[in-house]
Amino acid sequence: MRNRHLFRRCNLSIPGSIFGGKGGLSPFFSGRVPVVTASPIRVRFLPELTVRRGKLLSKQLARTQVHAASFPRRRELVLDAALLDNHRELARIVVHELFHFAWVRLGNPARRSYEELLRAEFRRRARGELGWPSELVKVRLSQRDLDLRTRRWREYACESFCDTAAWLYAGLRGHAEWTLAQRYRSQRATWFGALSGSGPLVL
Ligand SMILES: [Zn+2]
Repeated sequence: MRNRHLFRRCNLSIPGSIFGGKGGLSPFFSGRVPVVTASPIRVRFLPELTVRRGKLLSKQLARTQVHAASFPRRRELVLDAALLDNHRELARIVVHELFHFAWVRLGNPARRSYEELLRAEFRRRARGELGWPSELVKVRLSQRDLDLRTRRWREYACESFCDTAAWLYAGLRGHAEWTLAQRYRSQRATWFGALSGSGPLVL
C-alpha cells in the first residue's frame, strides 16, 4: 500500500516541471534531469500483464509476460500491479516507460545523434546493454539492420535509450541486467548529460 500511495503522490497529470517539488516525479528520478509533460499521462495498474499478437492483456493466458506497456499516442502507461510490491523494479520500469514518451518527442536530430553513439559501440563490438528490452533486440541485429536502418534497428535504438535512462535516473546502484562495459556506460551518461543540459525533456 505504501507504494500505491507513493505513486499517487507522483501524479503524472501535473503539467509543467515535474522533476522535484511537491507532487513531482522525484522519487523515480534520482539523477538531475529536467522533465516536463506535454499533456497528462494516464497511469493504470493491472494484474498479470501479458502480450498476444501485439495486444496487451490482463489476467489472460498468453506466453509473453510483460511488466508494463506505454502508449504515447493515447497518453497512457499500464503497469503490472505486482510491481507495487517491488519498489526498485517499479522505479526502473516507470523511468524506462516514461522515456518512451520522451523518445517520441525527441526529434530526428537527437534520435539520430543517439543512433550514432550506438553505431560507434557496434564498430568497437561492444557487448551487453543496460536492460533486457534493448539486449533482446541487440542480440538479433545484423550489419544489414545498421546499414539499412531497419525497423529492428530503430526499435533497438528506442529501447536502448529507455534502458539507459532507467540506468541513469531510477536511483539503483546495480542490476543483473546491466551488462554493458563501463566505458560505454560513461559515454552514454555524457550523451544524456548533454541532452538534459540543452533543455527540459518533453514526455
Ligand atoms: Zn521499452
